[in-house]
Amino acid sequence: MAIQKENGSVSIDAQNIMPVIKRWLYSDKDIFLREAVSNACDAITKFRMLHPDSEEEMKVTVTVDKEKKTIRISDTGIGMTADEVRKYINQVAFSGATEFMKQFEDKPEEKGDIIGHFGLGFYSVFMVSEKVEIDTLSSEGEADPVHWVSADGMDYELSDGTRQSHGTDIILHITEEDKEFLDTWKAREVLNRYCGYMSYPVLLEDANAKPVEKEVPVGDEKNEDGTPKTEKVMELPKPQQINDTAPLWLKKPADCTDEEYKEFYRKVFMDYEEPLFWIHLNVDYPFNLKGILYFPKLKNDFGTHEGQIKLFAGQVFVADNIKEVIPEFLMLLKGVIDCPDLPLNVSRSFLQNDGYVKKISAHITKKVADKLNGLMNTERETYEGYWDDIAPFVKYGAIKDSKFYDMVKGAILLKKTDGKYDTIDEYKAANFDKTDKKIYYTNDEKRQAASVKLYTDRGIDVAVMNTLIDGNFMSFMEYQGKEEDRVTFARVDADIDGLKEESEEGKDLDGDKLQAMFRKALGKENLEVKLEALGDADMTAMVTEDEQMRRYKEMSRIYGQSFPMPDSFTLVLNRRNTTVQALAERDPEDEETKMICCQVYDLARMAAQPLEAEEITAFLERSRKILSEVVGRKNG
Ligand code: ADP
Repeated sequence: MAIQKENGSVSIDAQNIMPVIKRWLYSDKDIFLREAVSNACDAITKFRMLHPDSEEEMKVTVTVDKEKKTIRISDTGIGMTADEVRKYINQVAFSGATEFMKQFEDKPEEKGDIIGHFGLGFYSVFMVSEKVEIDTLSSEGEADPVHWVSADGMDYELSDGTRQSHGTDIILHITEEDKEFLDTWKAREVLNRYCGYMSYPVLLEDANAKPVEKEVPVGDEKNEDGTPKTEKVMELPKPQQINDTAPLWLKKPADCTDEEYKEFYRKVFMDYEEPLFWIHLNVDYPFNLKGILYFPKLKNDFGTHEGQIKLFAGQVFVADNIKEVIPEFLMLLKGVIDCPDLPLNVSRSFLQNDGYVKKISAHITKKVADKLNGLMNTERETYEGYWDDIAPFVKYGAIKDSKFYDMVKGAILLKKTDGKYDTIDEYKAANFDKTDKKIYYTNDEKRQAASVKLYTDRGIDVAVMNTLIDGNFMSFMEYQGKEEDRVTFARVDADIDGLKEESEEGKDLDGDKLQAMFRKALGKENLEVKLEALGDADMTAMVTEDEQMRRYKEMSRIYGQSFPMPDSFTLVLNRRNTTVQALAERDPEDEETKMICCQVYDLARMAAQPLEAEEITAFLERSRKILSEVVGRKNG
């Protein structure tokens, strides 16, 4: 016997952590496979470094045996000598983990979350195992095979092993509670998720697989019709390779084709809608960062993108959407990011404050801004084609990250009602001398068509701000953005400051009389009525609502507060309009006058927003009355 049978306990550090592992890890238990398979890949890397010319086939085989209730992770790596097992498994296995646990002594609620994402190395296999065996043979020197077994991760027994060739087998005896991992589909799912891009072939084998019938050629024999002769044989299904060992993000950008980028996108995100464009991150210095970020097509009008950024550390999947590493607004994109040097077995709060992580995050932000500016400056038309889809992302990013805003502000576009696009500066240059220096916008082109027309008829551009983010974006541009960039936005029906016409028509009308007349007819004592010359003489009146007041009301509605708020409408009568001119001459006490006033008011309001149910009933009734009077008058 090469090794004296030896029993012992693992180091104290490790013992302390065992109960913690068992208690906290239920949510992301499945990372045990990632930890075991990535250790196996590391062991192969070590072997390859020592034997660069070796032509042996390198692979990791995961064998699931439902009958024996075991999962075996077998590699062709460097293996371990008995001393190495004592050193690496019994003693230092927890160096990283204990460190990490110390930081969380007083924050137990964060533990589960973090351990789940960042893994705890070899000992995480005890989350799902009632017994763990290691069978290993070192590739170095004249080593003997070693067998290690432990039932609880605390006491172990070391003895002679059986492995014939260098490498390591880790055999997990899965607990009753965790038997789901013994289903091949489950194992495949977990392996796909975490090991899908690991650097050596990872094969999944079902130990209980039944032979399946297969048609194979019989030597070179041919049938009478010349086709190759085949026979049916029973064959065990071959283990399937799970992973792609050379993921696209590791290739040089110059060597990747558009088709490859799209194919990779389809495969990783199961999204059959093509991405708009992408950014290939490829940095070696001063840090190592690889990845591909895709700008997806919008799924709906409201900008509720469901992005997904997969974080890898050296081809090992860590987790989706880790906000400590990737700027939050980038989560609207889809992509993969691989940072091999990330200190992932540390706490999240550490990551947040880590200078290295900050640099990565800043670099990604800059690359995204560069791409947007590049498109804007060299392929303006293409960029405009993308704008509707990427606008929510860019605006959200601007609001969230002032550095990003500074970098992309020249690439922020305003879509206009004529279908064209302006930068903020272009809009200013083309319109501000014609108006009172506001950006006029509509958030509902159809409904606000009449008001929009008042502006466009005068050659003033109207921006379309109809996505969910626009309200916040406008407030940002008005108050929080850089002082020198600030602009004011006003909806087309907010005021008529930009619309007043020089006109003689109706100049002598009695505004006070009209105001009194409308107040009385509508029963609104405080209604403000203005008399102005509007561009379109056919337009009788319009209702404006103070921009700030209206936004305030909208916000309250969104946040579910519904305390009564005063009407903030102003009725603007067009003094160039013949109906208004005729009204001014009428007797305010006359019933018909009242009816006309109500009708003018309702029509003006309807041009901006729907009436309430009771208002509609009144409007319809009044309309019928007016009709019958007109008809009666004609006939009479
Ligand atoms: P880490 O991988 O972070 O070092 P682990 O707890 O996962 O920590 O593993 C501890 C050590 O055990 C490894 O560093 C390695 O030396 C050894 N080890 C684990 N699995 C294997 C394996 N399959 N082949 C060779 N050595 C291994």
